Amino acid sequence: MEHDVVIVGSGLAGLRAAIEASRVSRGRLSVAVVTKTQVMRSHSVSAEGGTAAVLYPEEGDSFESHIYDTIKGSDFLADQNAVELFVHSAPREIIQLEHWGMPWARREDGRIAQRAFGGMSYPRACFAEDKVGFFEMQTLYDTALKWDNIAFYQEWFATSLIVEENRFRGLTAIEMKTGELHAIKAKSCIIATGGAGRMYTFATFGHSSTPDGLYIAYKAGAPLKDMEFVQFHPTGLVPSGILITEAARGEGGILLNAKEERFLKRYAPQKMELAPRDIVSRAMYTEILEGRGVEGPDGMSHLWLDLTVIEPEKLKRRLAGIREICVKLAGIDPVNEKIPVRPVAHYYMGGIHTNIYGATPITGLWAAGEAACISINGANRLGSNSTIECLVWGRITGEAAAKYAMENGFSSSFPTEQAEKEEKRIFDGLLGKAPRINPYEVKKKMQRTMESHCHIYRDEKSMIEGLRMIRELKQLPYMGVEDSSRAYNTNLTNVLEIEAMVNVGEIIVTAALQRRESRGAHARRDYPKRDDQNWLSHTLIHYTVEGPELSYAPVHIDKYQPVERKY
Ligand SMILES: Cc1cc2nc3c(=O)[nH]c(=O)nc-3n(C[C@H](O)[C@H](O)[C@H](O)COP(=O)(O)OP(=O)(O)OC[C@H]3O[C@@H](n4cnc5c(N)ncnc54)[C@H](O)[C@@H]3O)c2cc1C
Repeated sequence: MEHDVVIVGSGLAGLRAAIEASRVSRGRLSVAVVTKTQVMRSHSVSAEGGTAAVLYPEEGDSFESHIYDTIKGSDFLADQNAVELFVHSAPREIIQLEHWGMPWARREDGRIAQRAFGGMSYPRACFAEDKVGFFEMQTLYDTALKWDNIAFYQEWFATSLIVEENRFRGLTAIEMKTGELHAIKAKSCIIATGGAGRMYTFATFGHSSTPDGLYIAYKAGAPLKDMEFVQFHPTGLVPSGILITEAARGEGGILLNAKEERFLKRYAPQKMELAPRDIVSRAMYTEILEGRGVEGPDGMSHLWLDLTVIEPEKLKRRLAGIREICVKLAGIDPVNEKIPVRPVAHYYMGGIHTNIYGATPITGLWAAGEAACISINGANRLGSNSTIECLVWGRITGEAAAKYAMENGFSSSFPTEQAEKEEKRIFDGLLGKAPRINPYEVKKKMQRTMESHCHIYRDEKSMIEGLRMIRELKQLPYMGVEDSSRAYNTNLTNVLEIEAMVNVGEIIVTAALQRRESRGAHARRDYPKRDDQNWLSHTLIHYTVEGPELSYAPVHIDKYQPVERKY
């Protein structure tokens, strides 16, 4: 098969990129969107609370404030030139979505409404009640469907990238309905496969959010960056882990411990519940460890998110989805009951290493969205900055990949042997071979190891042990797929996902073990302080057959020298 541009992933980043590639080529390029789920089942659909942009400088907000909030939030690990580009590009995306039909919530005067989010000095999160991702996805998908040159390959699972002499040539993907493996030849590619996803047992991600996109890029020679930084969101509903959006606190919700005390006054006296996520999550975890948590019926200690302080009519309208989640999944009506919550794995600041325009070191290959590490999020992302990052770099990479495809022809030869090798690996190597150990057990053990050995707080001893356990899983002869049928063999795709999870687990722990300091979401008990002297740098992780190899790259600093973060 042949397309000019191929995009892997149909979340906000992938769809925005497909539209832009079509727009700049006036529909002349053939664009393929390959996605292992159906388009509207991408994780972006579940974004709840908001999308940040400076809309009203005349009312007090400013670009400089959004830039500084993001850099300070990142614990000074963000590249400042990337943040500058990001903040200046954001408003245009909000207006663009508006023109495509996005039903943004409104103020009294009819203009787009904005709400408060953690770590932001101004309420700048645009929203559509508490279903922002769903409406953004609907708007983009509707728009993408108007372009006849975009072909959607839904429920196609990408298994490898074909790269020759550091140049992207194409990819292989399993058409899940038939079980056939296809090679798609293309001039350029954008990886928009989302974050590493469900690496932990208690996580907000959909079960389809796994690191296979990161893993295939890494194996093809694109380094990953800053993978040690995993964001724990303060409010995961206990016991399911479903996200209770930060907008619940943005609208006035408060956090209480078992003694009904607003404990954040001890950790972030100014910002309180609206401090950045790394700080609030650590505060909650400390409360639980020091015995001020509430013992849950399932042995999971939790704290309380109290929304009864919000005016009921406002809660019912602005947080309708949250109320529905609480009623249906926990039997609690937040209008008059407190919600049991604890920190939950939610986002990966790291991803595929790119320059500020989303280009990877492989010619013809870009990355965008949560899969990419541009990096604007550094060591800690601010809530509401991710959906807008997907839109901004969806546009930037969509344009760049299209221009590249317009300027470059197909190469005369195609390395067919790489696709054949992949076919052998999957169909001869995996399919129909009874595994000696259940792959789902491997997945469970992997997730439990991450949960117990590389969580909010980390230390050397525990991570060395975690790494040993993960490496042991890597060595196990689990790579077999009992189900030998071809049609919709999710057993097969699950095993490919689990292989990626185990490898990315090894990467996260290796990078975390090496970083001997605490910064943003990476909190080491044995190195509790930030160390700008030695560690103001990005971690780059390269693939080798023996395992991950690390190197370090400087952070781009323009205006803002690192200072202590206080909230
Ligand atoms: C519950 C929840 C709520 C959130 N709320 C907010 C919010 O309010 N504001 C905010 O800014 N951020 C929020 N975030 C973060 C934000 O939503 C995500 O970071 C962002 O949507 C990621 O989008 P994406 O386009 O990078 O990828 P995703 O939407 O994650 O999509 C990944 C895509 O890749 C495809 N894919 C993956 N692997 C393969 C493969 N091997 N082959 C083919 N296709 C593949 C999938 O099918 C999917 O289409 C939230 C996240 C979660 C989990």
